[in-house]
Amino acid sequence: MNYQPNSDLLKDRTILVTGAGDGIGRAAALAFAEHGATVILLGRTVEKLEQLYDDIVAAGCPEPGIVPMDLEKAGQSEITELAQVLIENYGQLDGLLHNASILGERVPFDHYSIEQWQRVMQVNSTAVFVLTRLLMPLLRASKDARVVFTSSSVGETPRAYWGAYSVSKYAMEGFAKLMADELENTSNIRVNILNPGGTRTAMRAKAYPAEDPNALKTPEDLMPLYLYLMGPDSREEHGKTFTSAWSG
Ligand code: NDP
Repeated sequence: MNYQPNSDLLKDRTILVTGAGDGIGRAAALAFAEHGATVILLGRTVEKLEQLYDDIVAAGCPEPGIVPMDLEKAGQSEITELAQVLIENYGQLDGLLHNASILGERVPFDHYSIEQWQRVMQVNSTAVFVLTRLLMPLLRASKDARVVFTSSSVGETPRAYWGAYSVSKYAMEGFAKLMADELENTSNIRVNILNPGGTRTAMRAKAYPAEDPNALKTPEDLMPLYLYLMGPDSREEHGKTFTSAWSG
């Protein structure tokens, strides 16, 4: 994508990124901060969030917030508490990037661990709904909030041996489209799905261990698309799926 954002594209916007400690989420949080946003870094490994916090502050960007949270375990009360803290500290949310995910197993479904299936569905799908549901008052308080759901090709078309990862992304896409439909004429919140495609991260290396990572795009290569969908220039985009057109 050739989109060239202004350096202050996200000035005065508060954006929450899930899975901000690593991979694409880390690059997105940094890019949003570098374009003026106050980012709220949600993730399960505190050291990674603290390192990113330091990097953002050292770059002279607005001071981020840190939310240590394991989306596998966080329930309604913990997320309600988070919403309360965010209301008190920021008053509104102008962006929500659903990015945290786990891969689960790559085996035939009749060999898939049931416990693992539930874990993957919880992180990649149920937690996405609960978080969105409980953060809606903050999103509604913004004049034009953005919600971006990170999916995958196997979320659009389920594929053999991708198990709960594929099904969880399919369910998440369903929720994103339902939400977009409900909000189309009733709010300024714009909702879109982003499929990053093969990207050089730990998750990708786990899914394709024999692949040469240097042949893949980096998370940073994706950032024009993330910035476009998170900022005011995407006001006409709603209920759509965007796939990275990066070709090396
Ligand atoms: P990574 O595994 O590199 O990063 C995922 C991040 O999510 C990590 O920071 C991880 O935390 C966090 N996370 C995982 N589980 C939880 C949890 N229970 N609670 C809170 N945070 C959690 O993945 P990618 O950057 O590759 O993936 C980002 C998104 O892009 C995902 O939604 C993925 O499905 C999607 N995607 C990626 C592709 C790729 O090629 N990389 C292709 C298609 C889609 P921690 O640091 O503690 O592990």
